[in-house]
Amino acid sequence: MIHYKTREEIELMRESAQVVSRTLGMIAKEVKPGVTPLHLDTLAEEYIRAEGAIPGFLGLYDFPNTLCISVNEQVVHGIPNGKPLEEGDIISVDCGAIKNDFYGDHAYTFAVGEVSDEIKQLLKVTKESLYLGIEQMVAGNRIGDVGFAIQSHAEKHGYGVVRELVGHGLGRKMHESPEVPNYGKRGRGPKLKEGLVLAVEPMINMGTRRINQLNDGWTIITADRRPSAHFEHDIAIVDGKPDILSTFEYVEKALEEVNGLLV
Ligand code: MG
Ligand code: MG
Repeated sequence: MIHYKTREEIELMRESAQVVSRTLGMIAKEVKPGVTPLHLDTLAEEYIRAEGAIPGFLGLYDFPNTLCISVNEQVVHGIPNGKPLEEGDIISVDCGAIKNDFYGDHAYTFAVGEVSDEIKQLLKVTKESLYLGIEQMVAGNRIGDVGFAIQSHAEKHGYGVVRELVGHGLGRKMHESPEVPNYGKRGRGPKLKEGLVLAVEPMINMGTRRINQLNDGWTIITADRRPSAHFEHDIAIVDGKPDILSTFEYVEKALEEVNGLLV
């Protein structure tokens, strides 16, 4: 069953999403060679609590941390560890927060120092595919239109689109109906209606779309060990059109300050 949100609920969800946006903006300033994922995780937990919110992932399905941090060939659900990041790595930082009893859930993939042109392209295309998917979140369209837009853009560049993990409805629960695959056919799947709130989150692999799970029971890696990127926004349908509740503005401003560069 899909829980459609009222205008008031969507405004509360915007606050939850923006807590996560600011957390990712804070993290953006800290991502550099030598820093450990565990350190980023501690900073994020403190930051979220200082915002009067609750870390959304901590304890959810028994996940042990505040952030999912997935390095290089790790696709999603990486558990933050004490291994220092290295120049040329990429890390997907996925963050959840609960405020006003609603979840925010969004993610950004950061370059650690200077990365190869090949990786820059993967990050750029994955982010573009997210926004192309969001453009399809118009009342009357269907879930398949979102997935089709994401898949066709990624595959045009020769990338693999992960099938086993998908975006989702978002609300008082972290994972609500419907599922939002990053692949699909135009005109298929549930119809998009006013008040629908989705977390759209392409997971795009440089090589094969095939994945494996590590023995920790969480971390998803690419089967060919080539890098993978992940970007996620929370979006509501308001007045029939997509209204992005989260924002990468804080991240982008932080990256400009740190690098003078935008991915
Ligand atoms: Mg997420
Ligand atoms: Mg999500």
